[in-house]
Amino acid sequence: MSKAARPKGRENADILIVNAKELLTLAGAQAGARTGKQMRELGIIRDGAVAIREGRIVGVGTTKEMQRLFRAGYVMNAQGKTVLPGFVDPHTHLVFAGSRENEFQMRVEGASNMEISDSGSGVLTTVRDTRRARVETLVELGLERLDAMLTHGTTTAEAKSGYGLTTNDELKILEATKRLNQLHSVNVVSTLMGANVVPPEFNGNPDGYVDLVVGEMIPKVAAKGLAEFCDVFCERGGFSLAQAKRVLGKGKAAGLKPKVHADQSGRLGGAEVAADVEAVSAEHLIFSSAQGIKAMAAKGVVAVLLPAVAFSMMTGRFADARAMIDGGVPVALGTGFDSNCWNENQQLVIAMACHFMRMTPAEAITAATINAAYAVNRAGEVGSLELGKRADVLVLSVPNHKFLGYRFGVNLVDKVIKNGRLAVDREKQDEPIFLSKTE
Ligand SMILES: [Zn+2]
Repeated sequence: MSKAARPKGRENADILIVNAKELLTLAGAQAGARTGKQMRELGIIRDGAVAIREGRIVGVGTTKEMQRLFRAGYVMNAQGKTVLPGFVDPHTHLVFAGSRENEFQMRVEGASNMEISDSGSGVLTTVRDTRRARVETLVELGLERLDAMLTHGTTTAEAKSGYGLTTNDELKILEATKRLNQLHSVNVVSTLMGANVVPPEFNGNPDGYVDLVVGEMIPKVAAKGLAEFCDVFCERGGFSLAQAKRVLGKGKAAGLKPKVHADQSGRLGGAEVAADVEAVSAEHLIFSSAQGIKAMAAKGVVAVLLPAVAFSMMTGRFADARAMIDGGVPVALGTGFDSNCWNENQQLVIAMACHFMRMTPAEAITAATINAAYAVNRAGEVGSLELGKRADVLVLSVPNHKFLGYRFGVNLVDKVIKNGRLAVDREKQDEPIFLSKTE
């Protein structure tokens, strides 16, 4: 139909979501990741509507406005429900083989880390199992996990390597990650974390292993274009401040943006390192110092907090989210999904952030959407419902945003729209439909 012949007034849309009790746009006046009081501003539109065409958001406003502007092939009634951007999970170790439930039981029963490693359990069991696995197996396992994420509303997820610890095994994990991004509708952001653990072959010689990471792993991964970020486990028993700087410096020179696992089990100064190297994000931060927090705020480093990991460690200690938010650090939330913290659900993470770190539901939602998008360099594409962004939209079966965190332990997702297509409809079926990006 020519432009002139088209009935005047209304544009076409593929999907029009209408009547949302609360539409959380997360559209903000502030450029960059949200800090301080702006983390509480969700850009709420009551009786809200979103228009979607060809995988993109083409209209956001009240139902009345959007119905005046658009005529849609499919009108989705979100009456009594909350509509918001898909969750972004900025920290996962998505690809690994095996599991650690025996170790979990030992920890519940009070075993020490020493007893656990003496029993042959611990992170190195995952390294062993992952080294043995073929890339196809890793892809299959990854697909199941991405299914679980999408069902719970995560539409973009970061994935770190780090259970291979040889150049070939790290490449294998990153190859699996690349295929997962191609096969699954969830967008996967790839991070090289060769410096996750000192492997048994380099026991007592972490510098020797760092030589391998900077001399071989980073150049090969960068040459193959298999990662966008480079991360390092900067902890006592992991990699020192100097080693972390070496890894991140080399990564940066090779075009990999820095991220840091910092101050998870002690105050080593990882937050300061993150600020020093101008990392995109620093993660965990349970023991970070006031100076570290100040330095991160000054450099705009996003704090990726992982309350589910702290929970799974059973130490009862969580990052000081209040000090970070009040100190001007943009805070994001991630699952920290890995072989020790097996949780794919960002809704649970939001509940934990509210209960254990005293973040308000609004702050936690900002942290799991727009700020998480900044933590993985995707804020131009996702994290808010704004014109031109990718149509990754959640419909939750609760009437307002304060139910996130308040109602927990069940899946609040009613529908997930991924790339402008209905990917999960829990009203219609038990099993979600997973649409590949190429469809
Ligand atoms: Zn991690």
